[in-house]
Amino acid sequence: MDSPTPRACSKCRSSDDLHLVTLGEPGGGQPGRALLYCARCRAQPGHRIDISWPLGLLTPGTFLELYRMGKTVSDPRMAVHLVFGQGNDWIATEAADLLERRRLGE
Ligand SMILES: [Zn+2]
Repeated sequence: MDSPTPRACSKCRSSDDLHLVTLGEPGGGQPGRALLYCARCRAQPGHRIDISWPLGLLTPGTFLELYRMGKTVSDPRMAVHLVFGQGNDWIATEAADLLERRRLGE
């Protein structure tokens, strides 16, 4: 087993109160990237946060729901590593499958 990488803010590397965020127009058609933001970066103006979900409440199920709902098109392997601190083939494969299904459905 790999030991998990400490998770950190995608902007400033802080580990303070991290949330999984997706950047994009709320309700808009342009799905955003999934990133980790700390409290300070979330409060900064200049970016549009669509989903903001406390990392402590994040489960594989809620992570996959973002893909199911089309809230992000981030590369699943990178996003899994970012969010869970380590790779997970099962979650990455499921997410890639959901992405592909959305792509074909359009
Ligand atoms: Zn930050």
